[in-house]
Amino acid sequence: MAIQSINPATGEVIKTFQADSPEEVTAKVEAAEKAFQQWKEVSFDERAKYMHKQADILEQEAEKYGRIITLEMGKPLKDAIAEVKKCAKACRYYADHAAEFMEDELIETEASKSMIAYEPLGVVLAIMPWNFPFWQAYRFLAPALMAGNVGLLKHASNVPQCALAVEEIVRRSGFPENVFQTLLIGSKEVEAVIESPIVKAVTLTGSEGAGAQVAGIAGREIKKTVLELGGSDAFIVLEDADLDKAAEVAVKSRMVNTGQSCIAAKRFIVVESIADAFLDKMKEKMASLKTGDPLTEETDYGPLARKDLAEDLEKQVQKSVAKGAEIVLDGGRNGDDSAYFKPMILKNVKPGMPAYDEEMFGPVAAIMVVKDEAEAIKIANDSRFGLGGAVWTQDKEKGLRVARKVETGAMFVNALVASTPEMPFGGVKKSGYGRELSYLGIREFVNQKSIWVA
Ligand code: NDP
Repeated sequence: MAIQSINPATGEVIKTFQADSPEEVTAKVEAAEKAFQQWKEVSFDERAKYMHKQADILEQEAEKYGRIITLEMGKPLKDAIAEVKKCAKACRYYADHAAEFMEDELIETEASKSMIAYEPLGVVLAIMPWNFPFWQAYRFLAPALMAGNVGLLKHASNVPQCALAVEEIVRRSGFPENVFQTLLIGSKEVEAVIESPIVKAVTLTGSEGAGAQVAGIAGREIKKTVLELGGSDAFIVLEDADLDKAAEVAVKSRMVNTGQSCIAAKRFIVVESIADAFLDKMKEKMASLKTGDPLTEETDYGPLARKDLAEDLEKQVQKSVAKGAEIVLDGGRNGDDSAYFKPMILKNVKPGMPAYDEEMFGPVAAIMVVKDEAEAIKIANDSRFGLGGAVWTQDKEKGLRVARKVETGAMFVNALVASTPEMPFGGVKKSGYGRELSYLGIREFVNQKSIWVA
């Protein structure tokens, strides 16, 4: 089977890779286990040394790696460079804090000594998506390697160059051979990897369908999973919000990565007294964004990562409009056959429409007008997803009150929803379970062992 790297801005095939054969996969899995036996004995100081070196490489060569990202999945180069630099931040964070996060925790009991000890599990498989092809991989690998685990990356099939680049950076940073390897395989080959007794746990970021299938296999094998799946984040604007700031961040949040982010704002829930004013501002800002070649500085948003993603989004819009959604800002595919998709705003979005019920993974904002705060919370929670969300109000206490009532893994008051190494990241409901980042993230793939000394 061939795995192709296609530039979504031009449709050109950049490179074709031969997928790993089943024998090659087995050899990599076995090599990972061998590497683990040594790596788990390496001190935190030594692990941190390699991790800092890795951060240096990411910072110094951000442009080179950013280009690979842009050519493979279409995000503007400036955003790709920022993504690579953010990975360096995660590396440094875990390099500096892993020893403390993994330290024995003494617990007072009847014993003379009792504690929780944190021990690495071994080989962990990471199945990652294309939307942040570096960040998604590093969000896994920085804590996993610092904990003493070793990683196997099965990256999305449209970003093989990014997958290989990450493997290369790990190697160049001085980590021992095979503590982190890329498996060039399609999704059908994943089952056999999870079934290998060597593989101890699986983390997946991607769609609900992929998560359900992978967790099903891992469940059968009694292996732990962490799932970070889709989201349909609410962006609640209350009557006392700073409308200029809210509209600015609303557009930023919907358009991040050309709308292809799990924590992008997707449902804009606006109180009726300020709805028209907010919508006018949002529309003006969204319409002013420039598209074009993602390699040029002026480009605000590029194509979607694949043509089929643009086609699927177009269908979701068409179905929503057929069911009564009103187009406030017209955009979409312009009838061409490319992966480009211009931003759109839909209003009068109701249950039963894809814009209400499903995740819209692209630059389409769904507006819902509500009477008041109580109805805003009700609509925000009327979603199968529960990843992130935001609320805008000048009354911080009110913001906090709303934040506590929305059923998600994260809420932001008057701010853009974003991930940062210090804070846990993950969802509830169909957005998945488990947490990445923070001290909680590094403790997902460890044996939390009780030790009791009488
Ligand atoms: P997928 O969920 O299909 O892909 C994500 C990763 O999972 C890829 O590495 C993929 O491999 C792998 N995968 C898919 N199915 C399986 C399976 N059955 N067993 C093992 N691995 C599997 O996402 P798509 O690229 O198709 O995007 C579709 C939708 O998913 C988006 O529109 C969006 O709604 C959601 N999504 C959410 C993301 C998030 O950040 N939470 C990121 C990306 C997508 P391969 O590429 O080889 O199929």
